[in-house]
Amino acid sequence: EGAVIFYSEQLNAQAAERHAIEQALHGAVERGELFVLYQPVVEIATGRMTGAEALVRWQSPKLGLVTPDRFIPVAEQTGLIVPIGEWVLATACRQAAAWAQAGHADLRIAVNVSVRQLRDASFVDRVEAVLRETGCDTVAARIALEITESELMHDVAHAAEVFTRLKALGLLVYVDDFGTGYSSLAYLQRLPLDVLKIDQSFVRNLGNDPAAQTVVKAILALAGGLGLQVIAEGVETETQLAALRELGCGAAQGYLFSRPVPAEELSARLQETPRLL
Ligand code: C2E
Ligand code: MG
Ligand code: MG
Repeated sequence: EGAVIFYSEQLNAQAAERHAIEQALHGAVERGELFVLYQPVVEIATGRMTGAEALVRWQSPKLGLVTPDRFIPVAEQTGLIVPIGEWVLATACRQAAAWAQAGHADLRIAVNVSVRQLRDASFVDRVEAVLRETGCDTVAARIALEITESELMHDVAHAAEVFTRLKALGLLVYVDDFGTGYSSLAYLQRLPLDVLKIDQSFVRNLGNDPAAQTVVKAILALAGGLGLQVIAEGVETETQLAALRELGCGAAQGYLFSRPVPAEELSARLQETPRLL
């Protein structure tokens, strides 16, 4: 009986937290409570910063700083991800346009999108409008959209159609958390993709677990065969970086190079230390 009570208390606590997040999340965009950090992506061979990933943060007056792991799932369930996602995209695009104008037009700025956004019938039109409104089309800023592999699997045919239209707009398409999505790899042939991002869980064990080494090697071979680039996520140690370099991985992202930082800090880095290795 004790276990049952404990379990239901835990459920209640979870439901209460979810409810509190949902309440506070309404209007968060309008009240200016969201902001975006940027984490550099580094080319392993040269140490050059070739891009950055936009990562949303929420400073709630009620709940404090809330990480995306806590509020993105709620935003997805409530549909709030649509306006939130569009705000993140517009913010990242405005920033990318500014960087492009400052001489960094080749910097690729990647934005995470949820499958819930992708399903929206007007998604591609909205993306096109955002590119235009933020000046990304005229300065030829390079925008990438990241979607997690597990979410992609839901509807490959629809994703193929949406990605084809996005690519026609000049966008790049990345598969996030690659290797965790389970299932057949057949979908890879059917989608117009640019980059596979190797999930942190494999990178974490590089150097001490031969199995992780084998998985990363296999992903690199697969990507190479399909003509896709690779970014290793969550690189924290020199050992992991050395292993990735030895395996021939093209690019990496992680605390070893930089935590996600505000745009101004990334601007400073672009000027002062374009090489992060
Ligand atoms: P993700 O897209 O896979 O982003 C990578 C996450 O790993 C980020 O967490 C980043 O801060 C963290 N990270 C980077 N380097 C390291 C490292 O060396 N070690 C470790 N342990 N972690 C590292 P963050 O910012 O908390 O975001 C978590 C997830 O939330 C993201 O995973 C993404 O799926 C989602 N997310 C973030 N921003 C957005 C957004 O604007 N829209 C949507 N739909 N999802 C977002
Ligand atoms: Mg991502
Ligand atoms: Mg990831």
